[in-house]
Amino acid sequence: MNIGILNIQGDVFEHYSMIKKLSKKFNINPITVNNAKTLSNLDGLIIPGGESTVIYKFLLQNDIYDRITEMANEGMGIMGTCAGAIILAKNTNDDRVKGMNLINMDIKRNAYGRQINSFIQKIEIKNVGNFDAVFIRAPEIENVHDADILAEYNNNPVIVKNNKRNKNIIAMTFHPELTGNTKVHEFFINNLK
Ligand code: GLN
Repeated sequence: MNIGILNIQGDVFEHYSMIKKLSKKFNINPITVNNAKTLSNLDGLIIPGGESTVIYKFLLQNDIYDRITEMANEGMGIMGTCAGAIILAKNTNDDRVKGMNLINMDIKRNAYGRQINSFIQKIEIKNVGNFDAVFIRAPEIENVHDADILAEYNNNPVIVKNNKRNKNIIAMTFHPELTGNTKVHEFFINNLK
């Protein structure tokens, strides 16, 4: 299976390394993607954390925003982390980033404050287990519809998975690529099969 990592900005290398680490065990290849040509032939796509306004602009400029949405609606799995989760949302509460509406949720950018307010929180993720979740200028998921909540922090969902249409769209507000723990990536890959 080919797992694309959207290569625009943000934690591209860290996700690439995670997939590379799992490549033998799951028979998967990491591929960095940023145009229509490299997007073809993907079984799954990771949209990394970074800056959602920049990622959104680049997706439009490279003419792949609609293509990714279309591929997801046709069944391709997507894991969106932090800024990636914002891109997957229905409502971003910010005119500078239009969400793909691949998860029916409202999300609020930078809800925990600035970079200096970053933190690590132990959470328990359904079907994954204990996880040290790294939050960096994280958004907050405010309302969710048609998606399963896999973990919460402070009564807010922090990882959700679509349960209608395409069931392998997963969004999380933390950074699983920064911990050395591959369990969240493994969960995504197992759902692709
Ligand atoms: N605050 C960023 C945004 O709104 C997300 C931060 C992150 O991905 N770590 O895009």
